[in-house]
Amino acid sequence: MDPIRIAVVGMGKIARDQHLPAISGNPNFNLAATVSPNHGGEPGIPHFKTLDELLESSTGVDAVSLCTPPQVRYELAVSALRAGMHVFLEKPPGATLSEVVALTARADKVGTSLFASWHSRFAAGVAPARAWLSERVIKDVKIIWREDVREWHPGQDWIWEPGGLGVFDPGINALSILTHIMPSPVFLNTATLSLPANRAAPIAADIQFRDTAGTPIHMDLDWRQVGPQSWDIIVETDAGQLKLSNGGAVLSLPSGVERNEDMEYPGLYARFATLIRGGRSDVDLDPLRLVADAFLRGKRQSVEEFHD
Ligand code: NAP
Repeated sequence: MDPIRIAVVGMGKIARDQHLPAISGNPNFNLAATVSPNHGGEPGIPHFKTLDELLESSTGVDAVSLCTPPQVRYELAVSALRAGMHVFLEKPPGATLSEVVALTARADKVGTSLFASWHSRFAAGVAPARAWLSERVIKDVKIIWREDVREWHPGQDWIWEPGGLGVFDPGINALSILTHIMPSPVFLNTATLSLPANRAAPIAADIQFRDTAGTPIHMDLDWRQVGPQSWDIIVETDAGQLKLSNGGAVLSLPSGVERNEDMEYPGLYARFATLIRGGRSDVDLDPLRLVADAFLRGKRQSVEEFHD
């Protein structure tokens, strides 16, 4: 089978750290081009400043990975789908729910694959956690996602703009795991969003969810954490405690601790290849819907200004 010729659009941090290595490690894909307005490309690979320039060129491309900030992703996805390409959306899949719904309908009409990727679902501990929980009674869930924004998102202005999600940019990763491992649908009860006086997006959030079985789920999201960082989900069950730590990489069960190799982006590209070869799309909006509900239902409080 011919490799899928793929272009990476938005050559920022995640494209370089994860997408390029995952593509080069998967024989289903050939890196055919890169696109980025200011960043450069890769040696020997055609590079363009805009997606339109790529589409106007004679470079053969079957699929694109959109690794830009979410606010510009819809227009890029429409152009790619219009050109008959398969589209991989970095998380979050868009800046609004309805634009992603529109993209899904468009992909179905064109007959190409649209993949709304949730990399944390491919963290090593997540699939076994989901299997273990499917046979247990869940009593309580706590999510503690506390990191230092200055370390992880230096100079990323888009993240503080409307549609950039603020602290929900990492927080949505926790929600992508939560919605995958919980056997019942989850919804939001109350939320408090803390917005720096000079920014349009929250730096912290305190949220109470529950599921349709009545299980309380508390989420503590904070970008002001210095010292040890936490990306933990702790689930109390009738058979003891399950803990996912390091963003889902490490799984602790009453029987012991499992640590496995990081396969998040290789897992995403394996999935994308399967979708393309099978003529299917995969667009799960549950994590983005919970974030939208936090913005819809949450109480806002103003906190100290944030400067990078
Ligand atoms: P980033 O470092 O700011 O990179 C974003 C890139 O998008 C920039 O390099 C910019 O290119 C490019 N871009 C902006 N507008 C564009 C357009 N219209 N056409 C083409 N390229 C455009 O951000 P990032 O951290 O990589 O994050 C990007 C996405 O990946 C976000 O949705 C984020 O949530 C997700 N993500 C990030 C991480 C992470 O650890 N950083 C992890 C998982 C997922 P120029 O620099 O050339 O202007």
